Amino acid sequence: MNSHLTGQFPNYRPRRLRQTPALRRLVSETQLNVSQLVLPLFARSGRKIRQPVNAMPGVFQLSPDEVLREAARVHELGVPGVLLFGIPDKKDEKASGAYARNGIVQQTVRLLKKELPELLVITDVCLCEYMSHGHCGIVHQSKGGAKILNDPSLKILARTAASHAESGADIIAPSDMMDGRVRAIRAELDKNGFTDTPIMSYAAKFASAFYGPFREAAESAPKFGDRRSYQMDAANANEALREVALDIQEGADMVMVKPALAYLDLIHRVKSEFGYPTAAYAVSGEHAMIKAAAANGWIDERAVTLESLLAMRRAGADILITYAAADVAGWLNGK
Ligand SMILES: [Zn+2]
Repeated sequence: MNSHLTGQFPNYRPRRLRQTPALRRLVSETQLNVSQLVLPLFARSGRKIRQPVNAMPGVFQLSPDEVLREAARVHELGVPGVLLFGIPDKKDEKASGAYARNGIVQQTVRLLKKELPELLVITDVCLCEYMSHGHCGIVHQSKGGAKILNDPSLKILARTAASHAESGADIIAPSDMMDGRVRAIRAELDKNGFTDTPIMSYAAKFASAFYGPFREAAESAPKFGDRRSYQMDAANANEALREVALDIQEGADMVMVKPALAYLDLIHRVKSEFGYPTAAYAVSGEHAMIKAAAANGWIDERAVTLESLLAMRRAGADILITYAAADVAGWLNGK
């Protein structure tokens, strides 16, 4: 390399700064902190229920009392927030469980905020877990096939967001990828007096095969078709920037790129272009790959997990949403 940024060998010897752990720490450019972690949790009704999710070792569907136990455990380790998903007892074609006053998310949020007022409770706002067909919006069936209707879905999403805020959610995180949802949600929150409730939008969410195991966890697999008419095409980076710009214009306070590891270029571009608080979601498939390889003794789980999260931080992520948050917090705390 002959760059104006560096000296030249033999004057410049990069290895000088790599000689000891103390030197390496001194010049380390990126830090991983417990304060950057968010743990996703899946709530279902019942008591004392911990139902393991097959393809996601260490991840469970939890009854509200168990969500509280898990949240208290990670909060104790210094993890500032959890991202809550709900699995309702019944699904229908209007997603009525999504905005029910006593819906699974609403109940669990109330419990968490009562017992752990300092914990940041982020709620995922989407309709797929609550729809009998498993899509993220209202479906219109016709001879030409099924269509996911955009504008009529906005009302339900906004109503869901307001009911989460009403239950005490600290941050609203819409993941549906309908156009205009952030504006609709911001307006509904404001109308109901929640002007101070921030929105973390899944701004660039891709139609990704890495979500496979999540669909079992959230019981949200579409019964027909796929999500490619609303989630983004993995090939498109410029469009992702437009999606982020749009969400920011509509009132997003924080933006997210999902998945994370295969989309580091976008984390980098989103952070450099907009400078907004940026979250990276290390999704179920990323988690499953590390767990499976580690279980076979092929990789070092701890080293690979930490390196992956560090890569997301290096790319520009401020907030790391990861199923490994509890383990990572333990490791970072020296346990
Ligand atoms: Zn959805």
